[in-house]
Amino acid sequence: MAEEKGVMIFGEVSEGKLAPITFEMLGVGRRLANELGEELSAVILGQGIEEAATEAIAHGADKVYLVDDPLLAKYQVDAYTAVLEKVCKQANPNILLFGVSSLTRDLAPRLAFRLRVGLGSDCVELQIDPETKRLRMIRPVFGGNAMAELVAKKRPQMATVRAKTQPPAERDDSRQGEVIPVAAEIDPSIMRTRVRERVLKETEGVSLQTARVVVSGGRGMKGAENFKFLEELAKILGGAVGASKAAVDEGWVPPEMQIGLTGNVVTPDLYIAVGISGAAQHIAGCGYSKHIVAINKDPDAAIFQKAHFGVVSEWQKVLPLLIEKCKELVAPTVR
Ligand SMILES: Cc1cc2nc3c(=O)[nH]c(=O)nc-3n(C[C@H](O)[C@H](O)[C@H](O)COP(=O)(O)OP(=O)(O)OC[C@H]3O[C@@H](n4cnc5c(N)ncnc54)[C@H](O)[C@@H]3O)c2cc1C
Repeated sequence: MAEEKGVMIFGEVSEGKLAPITFEMLGVGRRLANELGEELSAVILGQGIEEAATEAIAHGADKVYLVDDPLLAKYQVDAYTAVLEKVCKQANPNILLFGVSSLTRDLAPRLAFRLRVGLGSDCVELQIDPETKRLRMIRPVFGGNAMAELVAKKRPQMATVRAKTQPPAERDDSRQGEVIPVAAEIDPSIMRTRVRERVLKETEGVSLQTARVVVSGGRGMKGAENFKFLEELAKILGGAVGASKAAVDEGWVPPEMQIGLTGNVVTPDLYIAVGISGAAQHIAGCGYSKHIVAINKDPDAAIFQKAHFGVVSEWQKVLPLLIEKCKELVAPTVR
């Protein structure tokens, strides 16, 4: 068998377009491919997805394996696993990367089993060992209290990478690449389940995932009713409200607002943590924010080790003043 070569990323598609996580995978894939002096390819599955292939090339892919078939129009695990196994055996990549999503949590382990290789799941950092040229897969363990480094014994060296941990690839329309059409050749009898309907949840206001400002509250907020201060501040700054697990467990806010290891990972320009102690599991979800501001009455709270700016005080004293000042400073047109 020919030697495994190249970095391949799974190009997740949503509504016919590349999903946001795919741009992050193209970003990290390009970096690793450059370090190894190898090619970057993307494998894209779906129906009517030519535009996604062009986008992948503009964002760094040298090659795109395009599998366009009506049976792939909606994600179905048996069909996707079979097609990916076929493409991997054809392309023989050295490294194979997936962005973490509900789809790939289902798909990547199955594919790893089919290919008889290991899987470094939930990585936050990927590096090439300068001596061995093998992939070092770094991921949090023990609830985020320690980091583990994994090295695969077999190839493809396969990893899933957590969203918002890798800078997305920049667009360059002058880039050239090759699109390789691959016939799906799926035997419909292997598809043991059928997706009948996909229902998208409607969200109000700015979503946590895309917000440039996130204002989060923890157990120090003392009650659900006090989250209205965070909502007011977030609204003035055009942001979204998040919470620690403690605030969720208290029943003050719904689980979809949780930030952290077992919640959302956010990377806004500004993250304001109010009444949050700064446990490692919380920081796992906000530690990559550009600027972190903490308001906490305990000067020894761990959050101050991560924060770029800190206010040691009770939030009851600080938040009303901050809200008034932000109202003054933020021009009405921006609000
Ligand atoms: C496997 C695992 C996964 C986890 N996943 C997550 C996760 O995804 N997200 C997450 O957040 N946690 C997670 N946790 C829990 C985490 O370890 C912490 O318990 C949690 O983050 C604590 O939340 P908190 O900071 O709001 O509460 P606390 O630790 O109780 O801190 C409250 C803070 O509020 C301050 N405070 C109190 N009153 C005021 C006031 N009036 N003004 C200002 N400050 C005040 C206190 O000084 C204190 O620092 C996880 C834990 C485990 C074991």
